[in-house]
Amino acid sequence: MPLISPKLSLSIVDGAVAARAISKVSKIAERILKGEEKVFCLKPLQIDKAKERVKNFSSLCLMKKLQNSVSEQVSISEGCLGNCSYCTSKFARGKLKSFYPTYILKEINQLLEYGFKEIQLTAQDTAVYGLDKNGPKLPQLLEEISKIPADFKIRVGMMNPKFAKLIYKDLISVFHSNKIYKYLHLPVQSGDNKILEKMKRGYRVEDFEKIVYEFKKEFDDLLLATDIIVGFPGEDEKSFQKTVKLIERVRPHIINITKFSPRPGTEAKNWQQLPQTLKNERTKILREISQDIRKEDNQKFLGKVFEVLITEKRKNETLLSRTNSFKAVILKEGKIGEKQKVKITDYKINYLIGKILN
Ligand code: SF4
Repeated sequence: MPLISPKLSLSIVDGAVAARAISKVSKIAERILKGEEKVFCLKPLQIDKAKERVKNFSSLCLMKKLQNSVSEQVSISEGCLGNCSYCTSKFARGKLKSFYPTYILKEINQLLEYGFKEIQLTAQDTAVYGLDKNGPKLPQLLEEISKIPADFKIRVGMMNPKFAKLIYKDLISVFHSNKIYKYLHLPVQSGDNKILEKMKRGYRVEDFEKIVYEFKKEFDDLLLATDIIVGFPGEDEKSFQKTVKLIERVRPHIINITKFSPRPGTEAKNWQQLPQTLKNERTKILREISQDIRKEDNQKFLGKVFEVLITEKRKNETLLSRTNSFKAVILKEGKIGEKQKVKITDYKINYLIGKILN
């Protein structure tokens, strides 16, 4: 289980390791098997994690994965610079540690040599990349990755608006690279500034809307994903309606909705909680709005032609492919790794259905 606080974890299990010290897990197990009780390890990694991964590159494992997918995740940092009042990840992951660009680039180069075609950059918050060092920040890292002379796509993972607002102009400029998916994952969490303050998110609704507006102005095919926490302590009807209005204004194509549930050891755990029935009701309302938006968006794709990259074999003999903005298109034919021109013939809520044009 993830280590939230040593005291709490060790009241349930005999041993615990922080995520940043995961390589110590076998040592902890050995000590427990020798009879030690309540062992934990919080020690951060001594070396750059990206460097460690490059060293341990497992060709066998990757070759096996390549048979079904040409997409691989590359983690660019660990930890964050946030201090959200409800979050336990910050305890488990610790302070921001950006991995050295040299090793990130090496890892990506290795993956491309093996035949991977889609690189998904991940982190707790990709927007903070490099803020703990003097080196390149996220836009510069993306620029370097885009310069790699190979045919591939980059998907940038979640960015906290608090830090995205500092770099969005440079980001927009680098997003013009045809290697970068026009996909923006910007978790707003609430449409009410009063709640955002309680969450200690460090931005206002206006900041979120400004970033989205600037991206949409530049990329008409932008696919916006956001996250909403429903039923945070203090969310009254007025706050919830502000979230509804924000969603209706901005119309994110993907909305990840989470019902708030208090986590041990966090500030928000001590605040008065909303009744579960109310959280359920509000979640249902948001889900319906989200589905309507998606349905309407998907309808607009019907009959249109896109170039897609086929990235994955699915269990039911179909293939998953991605448009330039990371929209999922399911195909019945084709080969993973290929780029194809497809016509959209149908859709479901979560994906489009396409046919390859010969
Ligand atoms: S929710 Fe906040 S504190 Fe937690 S990982 Fe994200 S930015 Fe960091």
